[in-house]
This record gives sequence, structure tokens and C-alpha cells, in this order.
Amino acid sequence: MSELIHKPAAELAALIAAGEVSSVEVTRAHLDRIAAVDQRVHAFLHVDAEGALAAAADVDARRADGAALGPLAGVPVAVKDVLTTKGVPTTCGSKILEGWRPPYDSTIVTRLRAAGLVILGKTNMDEFAMGSSTEYSAFGPTFNPWDLTRIPGGSGGGSAASLVAYEAPLAIGSDTGGSIRQPGAVTGTVGAKPTYGGTSRYGLVAFSSSLDTPGPCARTVLDAALLHAVIAGHDPADSTSIPAPVPPVVAAARQGATGDLSGVRIGVVREFGGEGAEPGVLAAVREGIEALVKLGAEPVEVSCPHFTYALPAYYLIAPSECSSNLARFDGVRYGLRVGDDGTRSLEEVMSLTREAGFGPEVKRRIMIGTYALSAGYYDAYYGQAQKVRTLITRDFTAAFEQVDVLVAPTTPFVAFPIGSRTSDPYQMYLADLFTIPSNLYGGPAVSVPCGLSEGLPVGLQIMAPTMADDRMYRVAAALETVVPAPVPPGL
Ligand code: GLN
Repeated sequence: MSELIHKPAAELAALIAAGEVSSVEVTRAHLDRIAAVDQRVHAFLHVDAEGALAAAADVDARRADGAALGPLAGVPVAVKDVLTTKGVPTTCGSKILEGWRPPYDSTIVTRLRAAGLVILGKTNMDEFAMGSSTEYSAFGPTFNPWDLTRIPGGSGGGSAASLVAYEAPLAIGSDTGGSIRQPGAVTGTVGAKPTYGGTSRYGLVAFSSSLDTPGPCARTVLDAALLHAVIAGHDPADSTSIPAPVPPVVAAARQGATGDLSGVRIGVVREFGGEGAEPGVLAAVREGIEALVKLGAEPVEVSCPHFTYALPAYYLIAPSECSSNLARFDGVRYGLRVGDDGTRSLEEVMSLTREAGFGPEVKRRIMIGTYALSAGYYDAYYGQAQKVRTLITRDFTAAFEQVDVLVAPTTPFVAFPIGSRTSDPYQMYLADLFTIPSNLYGGPAVSVPCGLSEGLPVGLQIMAPTMADDRMYRVAAALETVVPAPVPPGL
């Protein structure tokens, strides 16, 4: 096994830039690792070995020509299968998109390629990013490398598992209600949800358009910040993209790495300090907060009374938007078509296609959303949920008048056994109890490793004001200096 696979992305990039190792060698090492372990982990839905080696050879050739390379040039990255990749299968973990090869790259993928990153393939996910365990993928679950009988989180379990299995040094996820941070927490990796609108949604297959946010996954805070800087920034192709400079996330991660947090006020969310979370998780997070205080941070207890209503509000807003967004999968435009034998009407073909193409969780969300938006119920459900969303935003605004960042656990529990929460949807939804508020508000939030409970990783979540993504990286990098990421058992 090549030692290259254990190196952080920043180090790999430096070795490549110095000509000490080629991008092709680094890429081959990761492809070999995928070949050796992915049958057991199932992080990938599609491995593009040929495309990756060609991209790596291109970076090596440009370096040989003396071209200036970006800070992550030549480094491999795994991409969640929710982002379009030109000519490369994009399924969103769904049968309905099986065989679809998009005719264009998403903006995130365009930026990765332009920066010289090498795309290894597409990672497994819950169907259309709806889920917290990757068990709702139509192509079978991903297994957590910490314990292959447990879930790697979701919906981006494939991206997180690829990092912790050393199949990729970097990965891209998308976070609508926690799908970057929750997998980060339960795999002991770093997962950051940027400010909504800070990263482009162009080519990100829509689940809930007012919440969906692509972002970086990595094994170190600096690597996540470097990747964030590559993919973020205004995109005219996305109408909700923010036309402002990218917050200085890399400088902030480097500042945090000095281990000095003096002057930083951290708000400890009172409502997320007890109920609903495992004692082992709460204990690890408490120790993490104490560590931040030892580095000079000032702790302030903050009340955000409406955070406890975030989960029900989210499970009306996200399904409502999904019921509209997923109407485009009609058997005409993309992928699967069932029953088109010349005897059936268009409506029958659409119905048969959607019946066969969507899994049970996606159907449940479409039905909830259709109901919540229907005449007579709209005000009572969707309308109420939007009001709660406003109250949550007000809680954040008030909190950030007192403190620089908010901290809480990322998840209420450590990685659970596969199959243990699939029979009761509510049990699955609870995984996002602590992550959803920042989606409804739109601000950035990161999960950073914070020790173990019962031998499994725990994540500490750091939330910041919109477009202050740099603040969360500073605090996360500081924590990393005293609470290093746990090392997973070998595969
Ligand atoms: N687990 C949440 C859901 O099922 C969040 C998913 C996400 O962030 N994509 O909706």
C-alpha cells in the first residue's frame, strides 16, 4: 500500500508542485486503494480511472512546461453523485437516473477541473440526497470504515467514507439539512457547509433549492478550507449565488492552526446541550468546548428557543420543494422510461416510470410535499414552516450580536448499525436535529472531529454568520491542534 494515500491534500499538492511525486503516481495510489477496499466500503458508484489518469497526466505535463499550478493541482477528489459530470454517469443514487450521462459539468466540477484537481469518480448517496445513512441509495448502502456493520452517515456517506478509507484525500458533498456535516461527524472527518449561495448550485441536482449547498469534505480543516476556496465564489449561472468575494477561509484555517483563540466568543447553544443526544456524544462535545476555552475562547451560554422547531419546519419545507423539483423526472427527459410500448398514454408511462424509478423515501417526501402545498393546507403547513424559518433566522441574528460563533454537537448519536433506523422514518430524521437550523438560516457550519464515544467518532459543530465562513474555519483549525482527528482502524 502506498504511503501517499495517508497524506493530507495540502502535503500532496506541495509534493506534486515540487516535482517530488507526479499527479499520476498520486492518482494511481488512490485508484489502487479503491480497487483494494471499495468492494467492502462501497463509497463509489462510479470510478473513472481513465478520466482521472488523463487529468493527472495533464497536470504533470503542465508542470513540466513550467505553468503556474493552483494550490491543489494534481490532487484527487471524489465527487458526490448529485453533481453533474459531463459524459460521466450521474445517478443521485436513484434508478430513475440510471444510465444518464449529463451533457454538461456542474459549476463545482468545472472549478475543480480548472484548478487541476483530479476527479476519481462519483460517490454513493441516499437517493436524491434524502436520508441520513446512505441506506436509501438504490444501489446499496455504503459501509463505515470504522465498523463495516455501521452507517457512514448520509446523505453523503460515500464522500465521507472515501476519505476515512483513504480512497480519496478530498471529496465534495452537498448539504440540505446536514448531509455534509453528519457524515463528517460519524466518520471522524471534516465536513463544511458553506454559506448558502456561497457555492454554486448550477448542475447540483435539485432537492430543496432554498437549502441545497455544495461544500468540501476532507480529513483536515486546512484541506477543507483549500477545497472550499477552489469551489466557492459568485456564479452568474445560479440566481441565488452571492456576488461577493469568498471569505478568507484558508487564511483563517492557518490562523486557527496557531492555536490562539483569544478574543473569540463562542456561544454554547443551550437548547442543544441535553435532550435527545447520547451522553457519550455530549461528554465529548463538552470536552471539546473546554479545549476551545483553554485556547483562549470565551464561552457564553446562548439561548436559541426556536431551534427545537427546526426539524418539523425542515420536514415541510424540504419535501415541499422536492415535490416540485422532482416533477422533472417524468420518463421523457432523463434516464429511465417504463411501459412505453405504444399502447399506453403519456400519463400512464410517466406514472409507471415514477413508480419503478423512485424508492420509498423519495415517494414519501413527494407525497408529504404535495400535501403540504395543496390548496387548503398550504397556510397550515408550508406557510407555518416558513414562519418558523424566520424565527430561527432571528435566533441566529440575535445570537451573533453576542458571540462570534455558535457551537453544538453535530449529531445526537454516533454511527448506528445498518438497518437499525430504516423502519421508522422519524428515527432517521432525528439524525439532523442539530444540523438543520443553519440550513434554514443559510449560514455556514462545519463539523470537526471531537474525540470518540463508544470507540466511534463524535463531531463538534461550529456555526457562523452568513458570509463569515472564515470564522468557523479558524475555530475548527484551533480545535484540531488539541483534539486531533481519530485514526480509523485499518481495513
Ligand atoms: N438527512 C436530511 C434529509 O433526509 C438532510 C439531507 C441533506 O442534507 N441532503 O433530508
